[in-house]
Amino acid sequence: MEIIISPKSKFIKVKCNKCKNEQVIFGKAASEVKCLVCGNVLATPTGGKTKIKAKVLEVLE
Ligand SMILES: [Zn+2]
Repeated sequence: MEIIISPKSKFIKVKCNKCKNEQVIFGKAASEVKCLVCGNVLATPTGGKTKIKAKVLEVLE
């Protein structure tokens, strides 16, 4: 599952697909965001937006 998050969204709570770790990430990622537990890539920057590669639990505007 891939979701494009609007740059307006500041923080996104996601759940790692591999280890189920829940992590809050910055909505406007400047670089790859990895899971702090297993290193799985959670989000990648794509032209000013952020592509989420984990399960989105909550978007915190
Ligand atoms: Zn993980």
